[in-house]
Amino acid sequence: MRFAIFSDVHSNLEALEAVLRDAEEHKCTHFVCLGDVVGYNANPHECVARIRELGCPVVKGNHDEQASLTEPSHNFNELAEQAINWTREHLDDADKEWLRDLRFQRQVRDFTIVHATLDAPEHWVYVVNVLDAAASFTYQHTAVCFFGHTHVPMAFIREEKGVRRERIEQLQIDMTKEYFINTGGVGQPRDGDWRAAYCIYHVEKNIVEQRRVEYDLKTAQQKIVEAGLPPLLAERLAVGR
Ligand code: ZN
Repeated sequence: MRFAIFSDVHSNLEALEAVLRDAEEHKCTHFVCLGDVVGYNANPHECVARIRELGCPVVKGNHDEQASLTEPSHNFNELAEQAINWTREHLDDADKEWLRDLRFQRQVRDFTIVHATLDAPEHWVYVVNVLDAAASFTYQHTAVCFFGHTHVPMAFIREEKGVRRERIEQLQIDMTKEYFINTGGVGQPRDGDWRAAYCIYHVEKNIVEQRRVEYDLKTAQQKIVEAGLPPLLAERLAVGR
């Protein structure tokens, strides 16, 4: 059994399709989405439809929450706010209802999924260092938890001597330890690599593999500009920031 686990699609249909193709080529049989299906890029409705079609477990991200509100909350920075207002106008009522009903965290087989953190999933804290991860580990009851939100692929590992941070390519899971694994971002990577990021979890082998996938960047950028979204959102995709 192989899971394709992906996060932060952010309305980037080209990146999503490329990831799903790559996952199928690598014989993934199951899919899991860690939230932020919408926001920033130009195909919110199409991305919601594609993920609903997968019928896979999905948790709620902060952009999913904001997009499903009826009024702006002004909790976002200017760029994200402009994009989320546009997004709200380009989702239908059924899309919003689906986003609104997503849960903050779920258990899938023997692992947990959450968008931000397990200690306070609804507060949208960014886990960037071992201290942030330690707070989340306190509430983790499975050996493995996958999360998103920072758009930076990273594994935090809790063992006897404490929590450490590791960039992953292939990670062999040792069930006596605990893992809080960020799969990176599909639709707006922020680690300086423009390619879409996601993870494959080989359940029987207990291996988590990080993958990067090229996608049709030019089309995604062109759609952003044509939609009247801030051009900076197109530019940042090319540099992975
Ligand atoms: Zn995000």
